[in-house]
Amino acid sequence: MRYKPSDHPVFTLTTGPVDAYPAVLRGLASTVLYDYDPAFQATYQRVAEKLATIVKSETMPVVLHGEPVLALEAAAASLIGRDDVVLNLVSGVYSKGFEGWAARSGAKVIELAVPYDKVIDPADVARALAAHPEVTVVAACHHDTPSGTINPVADIGREVARHGAVFLVDAVSSFGGMAVDAASAHVDLFVTGPNKCLGCPPGLSILGVSNKAWAKMKANPNAPRASILSILDWEEAWRHDKPFPFTPSVAEINGLEAAIDLYLAEGPERVWARHDLTARACRAGIAAMGLAIWPAEERFASPTATAVKIPAGIDEAALRAEIRARYGVVLSSGRGETLGKLTRIGHMGPTAQPLYAIVALTALGGALSALGHKVDVGAGVAAALAVIDAA
Ligand SMILES: *Cc1c(COP(=O)(O)O)cnc(C)c1O
Repeated sequence: MRYKPSDHPVFTLTTGPVDAYPAVLRGLASTVLYDYDPAFQATYQRVAEKLATIVKSETMPVVLHGEPVLALEAAAASLIGRDDVVLNLVSGVYSKGFEGWAARSGAKVIELAVPYDKVIDPADVARALAAHPEVTVVAACHHDTPSGTINPVADIGREVARHGAVFLVDAVSSFGGMAVDAASAHVDLFVTGPNKCLGCPPGLSILGVSNKAWAKMKANPNAPRASILSILDWEEAWRHDKPFPFTPSVAEINGLEAAIDLYLAEGPERVWARHDLTARACRAGIAAMGLAIWPAEERFASPTATAVKIPAGIDEAALRAEIRARYGVVLSSGRGETLGKLTRIGHMGPTAQPLYAIVALTALGGALSALGHKVDVGAGVAAALAVIDAA
């Protein structure tokens, strides 16, 4: 049996967009209220307050109404001025990509880079900051998703705080799936979104902002105003009791509230534990099948996505096409420099359930075997089950 490209997939085990929780879909289907109606304004305020409890930024989180690339670009444009010196910590495609936005203001950008299968060492950050006392902004990506690697942001944040620079972190694909928030990682501008581990569709950005980051953005004469990229517009409108500078994504806010309610009802620690267990089961299965993960060391591997190295002689795009045609399972490719070198299995939100590790392993192993790279699928399943059953 083959699934046609036009057939709806059976399992979407991607790294984003991800499957959404049914409760989120019900939230999205709620009545669309007028944005100036007091009932919607109360909803918006409630969502912001609930966000504050999970983002843990010094001030009320700001929501921007587009998927998180909007917030990354807005954060760079608002925070970074011509006179800034940015230390950009590059460990993968997203952190490298931030350089373009950081440099757009005319700021000088210094790069501290590691190979895309490794992570940033906080000691190297300390050395770079000592060598460059002029650095005013440090930027990092927590989970560089196209590599499936996790940077030690809390330890990096401690070094940045000691130096006195402003710390900007892309935590889009880690927040909600593991223990990370603005306070614990010493982040001044914490950029995330509900469309990865909170199990929402892409459509909103979430920003956790420290007092220091607000002061810096307000002092930046080139920070966007009257613009879709403006963070300050949203803050100002709110302060002056004109809640929105333009129409918010009403339905997405309803979906986000459902996602936060689910997250809080399940308990963040339990949510993180099932992400971690799913990823551990997946990695055990990968190893038992004689395959390798992309991260150079297992301790670098993300709990929200597993990047699997492609064996020599296998075409990555053909492999994913075979997985979809044979089993109806959708996995993610690499991006940029990692494209063609790895396949990614997402464990995000509703797909961070241990049994989905078994689904992904059997689909991956079956398709690899069919393409001529024989792997022991049974050994992979047994190893993953052993991890799941021991938990
Ligand atoms: C998903 C993601 C984003 C959002 O960007 P898209 O490329 O549009 O999906 C930003 N940063 C990281 C690390 C992500 O994983």
